[in-house]
Amino acid sequence: MNRPHRAWIGLGSNLDDPHGHIERALAELDGLPLTRRLRASPRYASRPVGPADQPDFVNAVAELATRLSPLALLDQLQALEQRHGRVRGRRWGPRTLDLDLLLFDTHDIEIPRLTLPHAEMTRRAFVLVPLADLEPRLRLPDGREVASLAATLAPDGLRQVLPEAPQ
Ligand code: AMP
Repeated sequence: MNRPHRAWIGLGSNLDDPHGHIERALAELDGLPLTRRLRASPRYASRPVGPADQPDFVNAVAELATRLSPLALLDQLQALEQRHGRVRGRRWGPRTLDLDLLLFDTHDIEIPRLTLPHAEMTRRAFVLVPLADLEPRLRLPDGREVASLAATLAPDGLRQVLPEAPQ
């Protein structure tokens, strides 16, 4: 059988017990069909992008091994968001669970439902910092290194919350 694909998922939540949503979603990613969760990053808190009148987010990144196609995995991620009671409101508004497919092997695709690598990931410290925690030498399909990109971004209120950083 062929080797499984490697996919990286960005998780975010800022409503109704965000830590609970993130921890449950990390466990549920491991239960998706044909998919295993390999690793999860430390959890971070970040200030919201866009409207500031909403709570801070809890963010994490997970590494998956999957035999699903990119679109089948996206379907599963969107179904998981729905099970967490996600209601699509204003753009960049608060959400119980946001799951982004960041990278899928070295795929570079742009179709209406799916852009890979995720279109915003290189601008977001709350994505690149936890990704670099897990795999500092990881590179985007265009060759740019995740850790180098992370180092160019302003931390913007990003702080590790779990495990607690040593004082
Ligand atoms: P959001 O509101 O940020 O969850 O965006 C969801 C929309 O982005 C959905 O319509 C997806 O089909 C689309 N989308 C495009 N590329 C991606 C990606 N890499 N990961 C997740 N959603 C994506």
